[in-house]
Amino acid sequence: MKITDIKTAEIGGHGYSLFVKIFTDEGIEGLGECIHGGDGVAMLVADMGEMIKGRNPLDVDRLFESIRHRYIFNGALAGNVVTAMTGIEIALWDLAGKAMGQPVYRLLGGKFRDRIRLYCDCHAGRDDSPESYAERAKEVVSMGFNAIKFDIDNARSPHKLDEFNWSVTPGELAEMVDKVSAVREAVGPEVDVAIDMHGRYDTHSAIRVAQAVEEFNLMWLEEPVPPENVDAMLEVKRSSRTPICAGENLYLRWGFRDLIEKQAVDVIMPDLPKCCGLSEGRKIANMAEVYYIPLAPHNVCGPLGTIASCHTCVSVPNFLVLEWHWVDRPHWQELVEADPPLIQDGYITVPDRPGLGVDFNEDAARRYARTDRPFF
Ligand code: MG
Repeated sequence: MKITDIKTAEIGGHGYSLFVKIFTDEGIEGLGECIHGGDGVAMLVADMGEMIKGRNPLDVDRLFESIRHRYIFNGALAGNVVTAMTGIEIALWDLAGKAMGQPVYRLLGGKFRDRIRLYCDCHAGRDDSPESYAERAKEVVSMGFNAIKFDIDNARSPHKLDEFNWSVTPGELAEMVDKVSAVREAVGPEVDVAIDMHGRYDTHSAIRVAQAVEEFNLMWLEEPVPPENVDAMLEVKRSSRTPICAGENLYLRWGFRDLIEKQAVDVIMPDLPKCCGLSEGRKIANMAEVYYIPLAPHNVCGPLGTIASCHTCVSVPNFLVLEWHWVDRPHWQELVEADPPLIQDGYITVPDRPGLGVDFNEDAARRYARTDRPFF
C-alpha cells in the first residue's frame, strides 16, 4: 500500500481544528484531527504530505520520525511543526487500523480498560460569582460526570494589579478560594475537582494558591506557574498537599523529560492531538509510569480527536482521566454518527471497530468549516 495524497479541512469547535485525510492506492483512507497549531499548520501538513507520498502508511512510527528528523532545523522540537505531525500521525493510525481490520488501541498494544473516564471542563460560571460556579458544577455533575474542572485565573478581576503582572493579590486570592470552596460544597466530597491557573502566576503566588486550596482536596491544580521552568513547578509541588498537573504546553518525549524525571508534577497532561500524537503519547505515559505519575491528557478536540486520545488512554496502565471541553457545543452530536451517543454518564466506551472506529459526518462538518480554506 502507498500513500497517494494528503488533504485538509479546518472545522470549528474550540477554535479551529485541522483535519487531515490521507489517501492510498488501495482506496483506504485515514482521518486525523489536530489542534492549537495556528494558521500555518495546513501548509506544514501539505509540505510533510509531499514528503511521505509513495511511502507505506503502515510504518506509522517510522514516518513520524522521518518527518521529525527532516524538520529538526525547522522547529521540530515543539510548536506547530509537531502539531502538524500529530494530525498526520493520527490519520495514519486510523488508516493502519482500517487496513489491518483492527481498532487502533489493538495496534498500540491492546487495552487495559473498556471505558475512558472524562472530566468536564466547565471553564467558569455563567458569571464571575462563586454561586454561579457552584450552579454550573451541579449542572455538569447531574449530567453524569464524576470529575470536573474550573478556571480561577481571571484577567478581568478588579483585584489584579495590571495586565502583565501575575502576582496574586489578597483580593484575588480570596476570590479564588471562594470559587473553589463553592464548587466543592456544591458537588460534595466524592466528585473530583481540578482547577486551572493557565501557567500565568509567579512562583510565590502559585505556592500561596496551592496552600490556600489544600482543604478542598483537589484532583489537581493545573499549570500554577508557566511551563518552561520545571524547577519552579517542582518548588510549587513541594510546597503543599495540593497535587500539581502540567504538560499541555510541552511537546514530544524530550519536552516531558525534565518534568517527569524531576517529578515536578503529580499528574501529566500531554495534549495528544497537539503535542505528540498517539504513539508518542503512549511513550510519554510509559516514561511517567516509571515515576508512578498518572496520565490525564488535555483535550479540547471534537469527537474524532477525543476518540483518538481514548485509544492511547486505554493502552496504558497509568491513565487517570481525559478532558472533555464541549459541554457548551451541541454540534458534538452532529460531527459523528453515533447511536447511542459516544458519551454515557461521563464515560466513552472505546470503539472496537477498525481504525479510530467512528463515522465522521463530513456533511455536518462542512457547516462548521472555514469557508476560506480547502475542505479536503
Ligand atoms: Mg490548562
